[in-house]
Amino acid sequence: MTTSSGTTSASVEVHQLWQRISQELAHIFDAHFVCATAASEIAVQTGVTTVVAVSDPQRQYFDVWICDRDGNLRQKRWDKKTASFEPFLEAQQVVRLEKFGRPAAEQVSSELWLLPRDDILGIALPYPAHSNAITPPGVLCLIDPQDNCCLNAETLAQFAGNVTVYLDRAYLRHQVDRQEVEFAVISDISHTLTATLSLENVFQQLSGTIRRTLNVQSLSVGLTEEVTGDIVFVESLMGPLFKALPAVRLKRGQGIAGWVAEHREPVIINDAYTDQRFYRTIDQRSGFQTRSMICIPLQVEERTIGVLQAINRQHGKFTQHDLRLLQAIGGPLAAAIENARLHMDVLSEKRRIETIFSSMSEGVVTVNANGIITQANDAIGALLVANPVEMIGQNVYDVVRLKESSLKPFIQQVTAAKDEYPQLATDLQQSNADFLAVLISGAPIAQEDGTISELILVFSDLRQIREVERMRDDFFHGIVHELRTPLATILMYARLLREGKAQDAAKAGRFLGVIERESDRLQKMVRQMLQLAKQDVRELQRSWEAVALNSLFEEMLPPLADQATEKGLVFRQRIEPNLPPVMGNPETMHLIFKNLLDNAIKFTPSGAVQVTARLQNGMLHVEISDEGIGIPRQSLPNMFKRFYRTQTAVERGIAGTGLGLYMVKESVENYNGSITVESTEGKGSTFTVRLPVVEV
Ligand code: ADP
Repeated sequence: MTTSSGTTSASVEVHQLWQRISQELAHIFDAHFVCATAASEIAVQTGVTTVVAVSDPQRQYFDVWICDRDGNLRQKRWDKKTASFEPFLEAQQVVRLEKFGRPAAEQVSSELWLLPRDDILGIALPYPAHSNAITPPGVLCLIDPQDNCCLNAETLAQFAGNVTVYLDRAYLRHQVDRQEVEFAVISDISHTLTATLSLENVFQQLSGTIRRTLNVQSLSVGLTEEVTGDIVFVESLMGPLFKALPAVRLKRGQGIAGWVAEHREPVIINDAYTDQRFYRTIDQRSGFQTRSMICIPLQVEERTIGVLQAINRQHGKFTQHDLRLLQAIGGPLAAAIENARLHMDVLSEKRRIETIFSSMSEGVVTVNANGIITQANDAIGALLVANPVEMIGQNVYDVVRLKESSLKPFIQQVTAAKDEYPQLATDLQQSNADFLAVLISGAPIAQEDGTISELILVFSDLRQIREVERMRDDFFHGIVHELRTPLATILMYARLLREGKAQDAAKAGRFLGVIERESDRLQKMVRQMLQLAKQDVRELQRSWEAVALNSLFEEMLPPLADQATEKGLVFRQRIEPNLPPVMGNPETMHLIFKNLLDNAIKFTPSGAVQVTARLQNGMLHVEISDEGIGIPRQSLPNMFKRFYRTQTAVERGIAGTGLGLYMVKESVENYNGSITVESTEGKGSTFTVRLPVVEV
């Protein structure tokens, strides 16, 4: 009876004890706090030193709480080996172990066996009967329990069961919390990924968060190169550890990344150096040591666009859970990379079109289906004498006004156009009320479904075209004229000779002299035209050498001086001695100055012609000036155009082809030099050639 009532009172006591402890534990959701509370409550309530321990998730060590009967709580971290919890962990029930009889070595090397004087009553956590518990391995031990202690083997087992419930609850909460954080991180990442279009921004913003969530040392993205299939890790997508390293390239199938991309399967490796696929060169180059790695393929639909690697988990091994987490990030990351790439393509295409658009010499506008101008380049601004930016958003009929007709029928024609591009030659009204002859060409821009969304209108300034046409006509007339005169003369004298009109040898000799001179002229003209053709293919460029201008002038100037004097002109020359050489071709240099001097003499009826050459600011300046007929102001911008001849020269019947100055300018610029002209009509002209000297 005593025994049974003793047992009853003991079990009541235990029941009440547990009630008190569970009241405390009811509000605790942290596993470590559960351990600490259980240890201190049991110790204080029973008067026995109590130990509660749980291992870390990787099972490397134990976090241990020891509380003595006075409530002094200590927290320790014991290594798995030295803790010596094995006897309790291996048993399925409460065990009592005695210190007495244990070898001294075991007692000294054990953390636990330093505590008791006699014995320990202990049981494994989670309570062995709770087979589904998620609590990691641990123990609940009473140190030196007195016989009168209310906790015995049976009641301690109940306690362990109850503590397990609270621990499990705490670990479950922790798991849920962690998953919530991970979920929040993933949705945060997905949001960031969809919000930015720059790949580097994406990576910079995410790598820190992902590294912390996965607890890894490094995170990198390798991208599949479309042409070769190689995986390329660029510095900006490899994270701070690989700063300033050259891009790493893995051939198709090479290394773990290559394998993953090729097999489209993720890989978890917890000891990289024992894996056959591992490619050590990257570590060797970076000085970084890869221990463990998760690598997943980044896929967009069926294509593998690269891989995502998490390297070196900070604690423990990579798990399937880590893999799932990385895969959850991989999907949106692949989509973001693809978007960033497409965005880049679109941007560069846009830039290309914009460049073409703005650099076109023709005026261009695009007009939407409602007739509103959507784009206008600078050239159309120049044609209309208006600001192209202000044209955008205006109705095309308000901006583009024609002299006689309306633009409307033409726009309708363009909208209906299929394969042809309609054109309209018309007069455009400029904002200053002038009219300008233009050729408008139009084309519709169709959407994929065939609807016309925009029209593009190109305006060519007919003045330029007409000017070129005029110049070409002039040139042909000039050439024909120039050729016809000597040919007619040659023919006439040849006929006279054949008809025996040269009665004596002296007369025949004179006739032949005329034929010879005129043939020479013809030959010169043909040569000039050939030279021009030659220059067009830049043949001269090939044979550059240092040309000494002093000797060139010494050879060239005397006959020209004679020619000038013969014409009654004054010829002056001021050539500095020892001029440094210039780079070019001697024949072309000769052609440049000969042409300019020939012109000076040709276009100067009376007065002086002068040539000066000097070194100025590291450039050679050659000035050829005359006191001749001069050049009308409006002709000055056209002087170096092909076939161009001033009206005055033509009217005065001065022979020429309009090719000389064009050739001179082309040649001078070919030698990185420049030519300018200053002139006053009726007073004379000065042509200045500047050429870079050879550095010695
Ligand atoms: P060409 O002399 O055979 O006509 P150029 O190209 O050398 O060809 O010259 C083009 C035109 O420039 C000449 O026809 C002439 O109208 C004008 N010109 C060139 N040099 C002079 C000059 N020194 N003085 C006045 N007009 C000149």
